[in-house]
Amino acid sequence: MVEEVVKNIYRISVPLPQNPLKELNSYFIKGDDSDLLIDTGFRRPECAEALEQGLKELGSDPARRDILVTHLHSDHSGMADMFVGPGRKIYMSEVDLEYKRRILFCGLNEQKRERLRSEGFPEDALEIVYNTNPADKMALPALTDAFHGFKDGDTFTVGEYTLKAIFTPGHTPGNSMFWIEKQGIMFSGDHILFDITPNITQWSEVEDSLGDYLESLKSVKDLPVKLTLPGHRKTGDYKARIEELFVHHDARINEAFEIVKKYPGMNTHDIAGKMTWKIRADSWETFPVIQKWFAVGECLSHLDYLRLRGKVRKEQQNGIWVYYAV
Ligand SMILES: [Zn+2]
Repeated sequence: MVEEVVKNIYRISVPLPQNPLKELNSYFIKGDDSDLLIDTGFRRPECAEALEQGLKELGSDPARRDILVTHLHSDHSGMADMFVGPGRKIYMSEVDLEYKRRILFCGLNEQKRERLRSEGFPEDALEIVYNTNPADKMALPALTDAFHGFKDGDTFTVGEYTLKAIFTPGHTPGNSMFWIEKQGIMFSGDHILFDITPNITQWSEVEDSLGDYLESLKSVKDLPVKLTLPGHRKTGDYKARIEELFVHHDARINEAFEIVKKYPGMNTHDIAGKMTWKIRADSWETFPVIQKWFAVGECLSHLDYLRLRGKVRKEQQNGIWVYYAV
């Protein structure tokens, strides 16, 4: 499905089968002598067909097509190398590109596995996650010569539009939004979503993902955005949504803190089990393992946040970190 959102900017809906996000918004900007495609979808046939069909409807000539990705997640970058034109470029923030190259080539990494193990995640469950993570199977298989890193503040001009990259770390280490100041249009990627809350997890070598995310939100909240084009689902009121996201994270941080207070000496895996989640499961024990992995990662980013601000402390017992309120 293709729709023109404003003159020469089109949204192509790319379905994400069996994924709670449901669809990815890929944006196509028609230029004068080149076109720009923002984000692509998972590397899987259903996504490839939908994107191919959408681009065909728009009469997109691959020879004119550059690609810009908001962040390294597979549902955004997974098919970049398949849809870039011959000899054309794929732009990804230099931070995410480096992260992908060095740490995360295949989506999951040993450091994170070790961290989760030390936070009480059972070994047999980790084994399942590392063998079945769908985001991992549908990721870019390699970084080609087409990939180019961009810096915070770099600009891309396509036809009447000039997009400025704004680094907004948190959702991923090098997550970016693209701001068209003249027309007041913001491509928000997964930094600001409207009917779902962006997942903020713990990243290897990043000390404070949630703190970074909240700082990033603060840094962009006063921009005069008229139209937000998010990475998934529907758009909405930019400022109001940012306020909601602050309130949401405040409540989550508080919830995590209250659990640590109530159950001193509990590990992250079990603390995550006491938090509330929008997942259809009868209990923490019957949570799908992959969802548990997301939940524990998210819980961990909240515990890191609290610990770095002196609200909780952790100590190791038999190789597992357990938490106490300070
Ligand atoms: Zn994402």
